[in-house]
Amino acid sequence: MPEERDINVNLRTNLIEINPDKQEATFQNLDKPEEKTVTEFSMLHVTPPMATPETLSKNKDITNETGFVNVKRDTLQHVRYPNIFAIGDCSSSPNSKTAAAAAAQSEIIYENMRSVMQGKPLTYAYDGYASCPLVTGYDKCILAEFDYDLNPLETFPFSQDREMYSMYFLKKNVMPPIYWHLMMNGYWNGPATFRKVMHFEFNDKKQKIHT
Ligand SMILES: Cc1cc2nc3c(=O)[nH]c(=O)nc-3n(C[C@H](O)[C@H](O)[C@H](O)COP(=O)(O)OP(=O)(O)OC[C@H]3O[C@@H](n4cnc5c(N)ncnc54)[C@H](O)[C@@H]3O)c2cc1C
Repeated sequence: MPEERDINVNLRTNLIEINPDKQEATFQNLDKPEEKTVTEFSMLHVTPPMATPETLSKNKDITNETGFVNVKRDTLQHVRYPNIFAIGDCSSSPNSKTAAAAAAQSEIIYENMRSVMQGKPLTYAYDGYASCPLVTGYDKCILAEFDYDLNPLETFPFSQDREMYSMYFLKKNVMPPIYWHLMMNGYWNGPATFRKVMHFEFNDKKQKIHT
């Protein structure tokens, strides 16, 4: 698809200079820092380097070597401190960092924190659910939903692996109220319940703990 739209994707590179007059961007190859490439652009979309807040990353006792709060990938409980859990982008759990992932994690953490406070074993496990609504045009979107192993975890009972207007409608009109009114007020744990109903799945996958 990038080729179809004349999009040049630069991976493993660092943007080091922009010349707006000539519309040129200079990238440094992360694997061979001495190698620099100058690319012409009509529109430039840059992903900045990402890291956890300094408050966390400088606290080596609770974070891993890359600055993320060091938790077990299933229970989201800290590897050493049972009274610490991490949710969202700061967590070391190897899922794609999305708000959708944080929503799905919230129920797991809520239930597991309750178990810790009641002195019971943890029973809820996060499967790595993440969701990326990829808007590919003015009226189309691919709703990618997947787990830790990048297996599809699609909410709807049909294949979501293509551009669809329905997904665009969902992204534009349904997700914002879900985010602002439900998730921000603690009423949205992701679409797992809808997925199970629509796929006639009634086993509770959250019960499997591997770590
Ligand atoms: C351009 C863009 C588009 C995205 N699109 C989507 C999408 O379509 N769907 C999706 O699901 N996800 C999307 N995401 C990802 C989503 O925004 C994040 O995964 C989500 O916001 C993570 O939530 P969080 O609460 O973990 O972290 P954050 O939203 O980063 O919240 C952390 C908060 O902590 C605060 N903070 C930092 N340090 C301190 C401190 N010392 N004391 C107090 N507060 C502090 C910060 O100011 C911030 O408010 C997108 C992200 C970007 C950048």
